[in-house]
Amino acid sequence: MRIGVLGTGIVGRSLAEGLARIGNDVSIGTRDVDSLMARDEPDQMGTPPFASWRGEHEDIGVAAFAEVGDGAELLVNATHGTASVAALTAAGAGTVDARIVIDVANPLDFSGGFPPSLWVTNTDSLGEQIQRAFPAARVVKAWNTMTAALMTHPEALADGDHTFVLCGDDEDAKTQVADFLRAFGWRDIVDLGDITNARALEAYVIMWVRMFSALDSPMLNIKVVR
Ligand code: NAP
Repeated sequence: MRIGVLGTGIVGRSLAEGLARIGNDVSIGTRDVDSLMARDEPDQMGTPPFASWRGEHEDIGVAAFAEVGDGAELLVNATHGTASVAALTAAGAGTVDARIVIDVANPLDFSGGFPPSLWVTNTDSLGEQIQRAFPAARVVKAWNTMTAALMTHPEALADGDHTFVLCGDDEDAKTQVADFLRAFGWRDIVDLGDITNARALEAYVIMWVRMFSALDSPMLNIKVVR
């Protein structure tokens, strides 16, 4: 499948690498390729410059959002939450009917420092805002509740014995995402239901960041025991 991953940070890189590993034709989208490739310092989170990562992943294309969106059968939104609708617009998310859009972004607000709050919560969510902005797309909220290192490598924690939670309005789109997840080794996948459940998946991140602080490690996830 031809997949466009919007986002050049640690999340976009992890998902692009993973989706390519299981046999997809993957390109990564950015605002401006030249300025992206010219960066030579780690970002504020210590993520190495994109160009050094790309040197080890030459099978993965890199292009502007619009080019990556053109012809992609599926889009992954791994951009900064405040920029997600703009990035998806640039990639033409609303121009192809029924295209799957996997939304990994979180509406985090660091303006008050750490831990962050959410700039949309309780009665709305970023996932719903994206679905409303692109009504012809089939949005699935997924992967936003864990650190990038676990996204396509569940076995890196507790031999993969933990839970993946997703939601979205379209059953076939969620089945496609679950197929990817099983290919990565996810065994326990919980579908919360329609896209309004993105409120819960995004709100959970408030718990996640506090747990990350308390444990001093991002290698954590929920396991739903039932
Ligand atoms: P990030 O730094 O949050 O986002 C990087 C991407 O956002 C880049 O591709 C950047 O474009 C784009 N971007 C930033 N400002 C933009 C703007 N004004 N217009 C258009 N695009 C813009 O990267 P990340 O840490 O990989 O996180 C990606 C998303 O996943 C975030 O929403 C985050 O909350 C969520 N998330 C993160 C983790 C994690 O482990 N870090 C886990 C789960 C979910 P350029 O390429 O042009 O610079």
